[in-house]
Amino acid sequence: MNDPDHTIPPEDHTGLEPPSLLHGFDDDSFMRAAFKEALVAYEEGEVPVGAVVVREGRIVGRGHNLRETLNDPTAHAEMLAMTAAAEEKASWRLEDCTLYVTLEPCPMCAGAIVNSRMKRVVYGASDPKAGACGTLYNLVQDSRLNHRAELQSGVLSDEAGELLKSFFRECRDGTIKRRGAK
Ligand SMILES: [Zn+2]
Repeated sequence: MNDPDHTIPPEDHTGLEPPSLLHGFDDDSFMRAAFKEALVAYEEGEVPVGAVVVREGRIVGRGHNLRETLNDPTAHAEMLAMTAAAEEKASWRLEDCTLYVTLEPCPMCAGAIVNSRMKRVVYGASDPKAGACGTLYNLVQDSRLNHRAELQSGVLSDEAGELLKSFFRECRDGTIKRRGAK
């Protein structure tokens, strides 16, 4: 799934990261953990997006979309996972962490990624309507901002995209009730 063509090198690439083969294995397994979070959101009637933050090979923050449950426009999976990781680390600086998220981060989450100094971002499906990590914008690698993250897209993207499609299909069919729907 890790098509090397999908790798967008950061502008200030240092070449210090571990070999890409190792990335591939870890990326898939951590993305599966993010996918599990997305499944929890699905079961709760929330748009199924999940995220985990990984530090030194260990998950230090998890989150899934809870926008409807919390009535909070900022309760995206990435925001919750980053907040949990910062709490665990007792620091807002996540410069030694990687964020895995099933869907491309939106401008709000991309802003939080920059503000947290996240080292690396790995996402699954691209988001043509809100994607701010390469699709509509690339905020996490904008040289005008004070931080740039390494970026990898397309990891388990088919599964993540299929999950979203099936969620919206089941909402239309009435098979599941979308939380917050009138
Ligand atoms: Zn977001």
